[in-house]
Amino acid sequence: MNYETVRETDPAVADALDGELQRQRDTLAMIASENHVSPAVLEAQGSALTNKYAEGYPGKRYYAGCEYADEVEQLAIDRAKELWGAEHVNVQPHSGTQANMGVYLAMLDAGDKILSLDLNHGGHLSHGHPANFTGQLYEVEQYVVDEETGYIDYEGLHAQAEEFEPDIIVSGYSAYPREVDFERVQETADAVGALHLADIAHITGLVAGGVHESPVGVADFVTGSTHKTIRAGRGGIIMTSEEYADDIDKAVFPGGQGGPLMHNIAGKAVGFKEALEPEFDDYAAQVVENAKVLGETLEGHGFELVSGGTDTHLVLVDLRPSHPDTTGGDAEEALEEVGLVLNANTVPGETRSPFNPSGIRAGTPALTTRGMGTEEMEQVGDLIARVVDAPDDADVKAEAAAEIDELTDAFPLYE
Ligand SMILES: *Cc1c(COP(=O)(O)O)cnc(C)c1O
Repeated sequence: MNYETVRETDPAVADALDGELQRQRDTLAMIASENHVSPAVLEAQGSALTNKYAEGYPGKRYYAGCEYADEVEQLAIDRAKELWGAEHVNVQPHSGTQANMGVYLAMLDAGDKILSLDLNHGGHLSHGHPANFTGQLYEVEQYVVDEETGYIDYEGLHAQAEEFEPDIIVSGYSAYPREVDFERVQETADAVGALHLADIAHITGLVAGGVHESPVGVADFVTGSTHKTIRAGRGGIIMTSEEYADDIDKAVFPGGQGGPLMHNIAGKAVGFKEALEPEFDDYAAQVVENAKVLGETLEGHGFELVSGGTDTHLVLVDLRPSHPDTTGGDAEEALEEVGLVLNANTVPGETRSPFNPSGIRAGTPALTTRGMGTEEMEQVGDLIARVVDAPDDADVKAEAAAEIDELTDAFPLYE
């Protein structure tokens, strides 16, 4: 892989592209929302479809010359239906946030009520944060996780829903290590006459791979990002039933977006095809197994995991009990220095600022894509512990960096 043609035109951008490729090769990507797509997905995303205007939907476009755009989009839709078992799929949202926007635009009026999980407890900006359009256009209340157990407080959610009478309840989260009980949220939605949006941005691949309960056919709407565990390149997706199909399609285009990013839709089609292969189920299972082993290794070193473990692709570590003087930001920075990239994260009952919170979040999707298994997760867990125990020790960090060099060499990326 090289950027020779870019280099001829624009050496500055070529340098940055090379730098990024090398950075991904040389570091352990443990940001839980990230992954490495296949070379086939990369190629599809870099295709001539980026030139094509295809406003509308397959067979009903506002422009001529859409025969190949139609083919690609229909393939993406059909494969998504097969992967997740959805009745209706829209693959045009530019990202997960735009997928959520499509649902809100389709179903809510300004001032309507959203009930969603608090961002500090693992929610997402697009679920009603004041800095996001959702927090500005809609009336938002937030539910929480039980701070003792780290699990969603489903009873509290139910009581709050009866009181607040939301128009829509949002489930599905960014930093929640446990399996989500979508049926239970649906019962609450039914009881209070609310719609239910299950945002599976993080766990699209785990649901497709059969290692997490599916909200498809349970919740009214299921949204996701396509670049996270499902590994199909940057973008978003909405799944729903025939009942809401027209409303959703109109809300995505022309309601909230212009022309679809057809090159990204090609990436989705290719990524979904890869995910339909039986090997993808093994991948999804390995992602979860790896996260379990990573979590157990960290616990063995005295770290405290929010909820005491994980059912998913990520662990959320509360540093306060084990490392009261080390913030999430300190840990993130020391680990980045040695070549392990994860993010500082708020934890339930957060006592620090969201800009330098008390936790770190670590995910296994990208390392698993590189072929790493439980043995490597033990090694990585040991390494995180050593660095976070001594974030200012140059010798410890030099040793950790050398170990990561060996690991990344042993599990090469984009050869
Ligand atoms: C990542 C994420 C999204 C979407 O993010 P985009 O960056 O817009 O794709 C939406 N909801 C949740 C819960 C997420 O974690």
